[in-house]
Amino acid sequence: MAVDITKFRAAAGRKKKKLTLFLEKFDQLVPPGLHKMVAKADAEVWQEINCTECANCCKTMTPIFTPSDVKRIAGHLEMSVPDFKKKYLKVEDETGSVVIKSQPCPFLKRNKCSIYDVRPADCAQFPHHHKKPFDDYNETFRNNLIHCPATLLLVEKLEKTITSEFEF
Ligand code: SF4
Ligand code: SF4
Repeated sequence: MAVDITKFRAAAGRKKKKLTLFLEKFDQLVPPGLHKMVAKADAEVWQEINCTECANCCKTMTPIFTPSDVKRIAGHLEMSVPDFKKKYLKVEDETGSVVIKSQPCPFLKRNKCSIYDVRPADCAQFPHHHKKPFDDYNETFRNNLIHCPATLLLVEKLEKTITSEFEF
């Protein structure tokens, strides 16, 4: 299904507070069977959302580039590592992480990743729904509620299931 980013932004704005509070509860309490619930909800999410119709993460966020990402991608583009870094990357002041200089990501072409096979590991793992334990990534999911329609839908589904089945 195509993702309507304008509608997503409006929905994320409306739901962010409630879903953030829900995710914060995982800091104190993890419901039994959480990982099964996440896997089920995640499978449903990908029936409804097609990343190739969205690419909002590539337009509004930056992945972190590890040294091996840099080497692999520079090689793929037949560039030297220093030239690749100079053209595309910068070091983030607050975190010291190596990130993309500009947004949208310069490798996004016609809404698709032009370096898909060699993309940074961070991109390949995004939106991190499979990470375990799920509750260790609360902060990531809280931050991504306003960036990723798939994460917003996942957390909504979890909130519905968990609040109907548990005193949470
Ligand atoms: S490298 Fe590819 S997947 Fe990663 S942000 Fe850029 S366009 Fe998106
Ligand atoms: S991971 Fe999320 S933000 Fe990125 S393209 Fe897929 S649905 Fe959109």
